[in-house]
Amino acid sequence: MSYAKSNTGLVVLVGGGPGAAQLLTAEAAKWISRADVVIYDRLANPELLRLAPATAEKIYVGKSPGDHSRSQEQINALLIEKAYAGRLVVRLKGGDPLIFGRGGEEADALAAAGCAFRIVPGITAAIAAGAYAGIPLTDRRLAGTLALVTGNEDPAKDESAIDFTALAGIDTVVFYMGVGRLAAIAEKLIAAGKPSETPAAVVENATTPAQRTITATLGTLAARARQMNVNPPALIVVGPVVQAASRLGWFEKLPLKGQTVLITRTRRQASRLAEKLAERGAAVIQAPAIEIAPLESFADVDDALGRLGKFDWIAFTSPNGVVALIDRAREIGLDCRVFAGTKIAAVGTATAEALSRRGIEPDLMGDDFTTESLGKALIATGIDNGDSILLVRSDIATPQLPEMLTAAGAKVEQLAAYRTIQPAGLPDDALAAIRAGKIDWITFTSTSTVENFLRLAGGIDLAAVKLAAIGPVTADALKQHDLTPAVIAEPHTIDALAAAIEAYPVK
Ligand code: SAH
Repeated sequence: MSYAKSNTGLVVLVGGGPGAAQLLTAEAAKWISRADVVIYDRLANPELLRLAPATAEKIYVGKSPGDHSRSQEQINALLIEKAYAGRLVVRLKGGDPLIFGRGGEEADALAAAGCAFRIVPGITAAIAAGAYAGIPLTDRRLAGTLALVTGNEDPAKDESAIDFTALAGIDTVVFYMGVGRLAAIAEKLIAAGKPSETPAAVVENATTPAQRTITATLGTLAARARQMNVNPPALIVVGPVVQAASRLGWFEKLPLKGQTVLITRTRRQASRLAEKLAERGAAVIQAPAIEIAPLESFADVDDALGRLGKFDWIAFTSPNGVVALIDRAREIGLDCRVFAGTKIAAVGTATAEALSRRGIEPDLMGDDFTTESLGKALIATGIDNGDSILLVRSDIATPQLPEMLTAAGAKVEQLAAYRTIQPAGLPDDALAAIRAGKIDWITFTSTSTVENFLRLAGGIDLAAVKLAAIGPVTADALKQHDLTPAVIAEPHTIDALAAAIEAYPVK
């Protein structure tokens, strides 16, 4: 077969990792972000598809129960067809593409068709489960050999390709796709000579917030798993190393393990909060109740950009304002020099960081990251003799800050630099989770997240849900609707919000 067809595209067989999106490799993320076509199976983490360009064609070829899924031949043909059309095709698979992923068959078909291909490894489920369940799959003291085995075959059939006698001599044996046949697998291993007292575990949904590790012995694991209602995806791990799980299992002991938190801020802004909560073991669901949109007309912004030097202060009350104003300055051919000679104030650390990333260090920040403390800090600098302040804000900002500054003797000009709009609806998965009572916490990071969320959630009963507010103003917005926040972050930062949720006593 020839590899010479240079007009064909490229197929990249990409391992998507075991579930947690952060466990994707940097190389995998790069190829997904460049893809023209993403051909994927049922993925442990659908978030990976968000890394693909919005314009990329996304084709699901996985099996779902009762569905006429594509045969392997049809998948191979699809890969080849897209490659021949000159596209960059990402064939995205869970875990590693070559570990029980049919990546070998697909690569063979591509090679035979003369299509260029690459293979990007992924963290396979066994490796991930070992790390997240605290089971060192090899350990100098206990296990020098490791086998990865398919549990998909019927171990009862005589001509089984799996040599259980050989497996009985391996220190650590991991079965993929085996939970449905757990009892038969255990029986066969014991019959082949593996002692029934050998420690054994099932690791379900490894690396995801739903991870569960159930430990027993080889002889008792099947009954224990049935009792605990274990479901795929799960691995069976057999060997003395399993004993370490009780000492080294760290992931299932994280403080927010088992709690589901809804985040209502924009997707773009949610990442830090989502990350902080996920690091503490929470399951995070995004339900953006606000969207940041560009202005319909930039006339006022352009006018202000032309006069920045005339202000004593420019005050930013959110990172969005920083991004919007500076992006617009760049768009009309200006650069950071327009800020020269004017003092800059930022409401809090995130706003200061947004400025800093664009080469501007703020001169002033509020003490506790509220607009009120920003006002106080500005007043303390002595603005009473008519200092001029440009307040860069959203189109729906509240009047307290300008009123406060004006009362203190400053000349205040307000500039709407972006629009805050309400999205058409909440994502389906978020709505379903709220209705099913699966949400433990909802976080609110501004008044508009409160107002919009309550409107979008339209009458869903939130009595059983704990509400977390970033500060007193947001808390007041909740109280206006007869809702009492369980926590108010102090100081009013994202980090403190995550910490307050963690510190909340679990009943
Ligand atoms: N290529 C994949 C495996 C695909 S076979 C990889 O390298 O991981 C599917 C099997 O993988 C499932 O039946 C289950 O046994 C295992 N698996 C995949 N993701 C898992 C997870 N998050 N937790 C536990 N097992 C998982």
